[in-house]
Amino acid sequence: MAPVVRFAPSPTGYLHIGNARTALFNALFARARGGTVVLRLDDTDTARSRPEFAAAIAQDLDWLGIAPDRAVRQSDRVALYDAAAERLKAAGRLYPAYETPEELERRRRRQLGRGQPPVYDRAALRLTAEERAALEAEGRRPHWRFRLDPGVVAWTDLVRGECRVEAESLSDPVLVRADGSYLYTLPSVVDDAEMGITHVIRGEDHVTNTAVQIQILSALGAPVPAFAHHNLITTASGEGLSKRLGHLSLRGLREAGYEPLAVAALATLTGSAEAVRPVTDLGELAGLLDLAHVSRAPAKFDTHDLDQLNARLVHAMPYDAAAGRLAELGVPREAGEAFWMAVRANLTRVAQAGPWWGVVQGPVTPVIADAAFAARAAALLPPEPWDASTWKAWSEAVKAETGLKGKALFLPLRLALTGLDHGPDLAGLLPLIGRARSLRRLAGESA
Ligand code: GLU
Repeated sequence: MAPVVRFAPSPTGYLHIGNARTALFNALFARARGGTVVLRLDDTDTARSRPEFAAAIAQDLDWLGIAPDRAVRQSDRVALYDAAAERLKAAGRLYPAYETPEELERRRRRQLGRGQPPVYDRAALRLTAEERAALEAEGRRPHWRFRLDPGVVAWTDLVRGECRVEAESLSDPVLVRADGSYLYTLPSVVDDAEMGITHVIRGEDHVTNTAVQIQILSALGAPVPAFAHHNLITTASGEGLSKRLGHLSLRGLREAGYEPLAVAALATLTGSAEAVRPVTDLGELAGLLDLAHVSRAPAKFDTHDLDQLNARLVHAMPYDAAAGRLAELGVPREAGEAFWMAVRANLTRVAQAGPWWGVVQGPVTPVIADAAFAARAAALLPPEPWDASTWKAWSEAVKAETGLKGKALFLPLRLALTGLDHGPDLAGLLPLIGRARSLRRLAGESA
């Protein structure tokens, strides 16, 4: 059966590289198996969810190359959650509780003080009908807790292998707030069941939720999907990423000029048994994703790795893939391909081509230490038309005339022609600079 997966971000901030890892794991897993990807916006937290973040999520996924087959929002589906909550209440699995956050906190401290685990003591479950009525008469509105069954919840995780959680180690989770709004837990389960999700692939911060959600699924008589909890990406210093704080956002990486395929390859392959390497497309990346080979240790994200990966992609990038962006940088079409082939080996990001076009086009302030040498070199410039062989022919002529070779020959020519002591191979740049500009630069003129 073809898998149905979902990527379920809350629209409370911009997606970061860790969210991209989850999105890619889902999309690539489905892609390799002819499956379906649902984008589900977990927007039940109305205070923090914002439409502009929802729009940004769609754009960021599109940039990464992920096209969901279906998109839904939880805020449109509340009737389904209401129906499920009613069923759980009728089955005695969802019970009202009246404690205030302060009361719960006091109890928690007391438990910790006695060396007990801070598990909810189910006091609300022991309330009589009269006590409940009295609390309601005081104006208290209940929140609703799911009554966990005792025992071990076990599943075979596609990343972590055999997982076991003792239900007694958990508090009965609150599913419905006092204002009637839902926490994430129940809507997620209801949607997974209603949409026929076959594989829930998400970060390992959800392992405990999974134990609870398996019990809720069973209570609702719904099938239990397969689960995969992948390791989380941290910053190079080991800090967790936060959507709220805008850590390593996809937007920021895009604006910094990284290639989506470099970001995708790093987000997918880091912290796995596969070497981080450039890929030609997401199909190739899908072939490299093996959930069983994802490490248990956190995956450290290092910008240096991204730079390297990006540079490798740029060095091999065909002109067609760069043409649009070169045009935006002001490189004219006629020169585009020759220029790209001349400079790409020197770039980490495509946008860095812009300054090199500035060097070709000028004005450049030549650096000339020995004007006589520059004049002799200028006299030897061959007539146009120029091509990729011109540099070799000219520099050999200058070498024969001056007896200079190696760096002593090339560096003064480069400094005169570009004003810089480093840069792309002059064989590629020289025909683009052209004879007229070369003559002026060798004469020390800004051109
Ligand atoms: N909205 C949840 C999150 O962003 C989804 C978790 C899940 O995939 O079930 O963490």
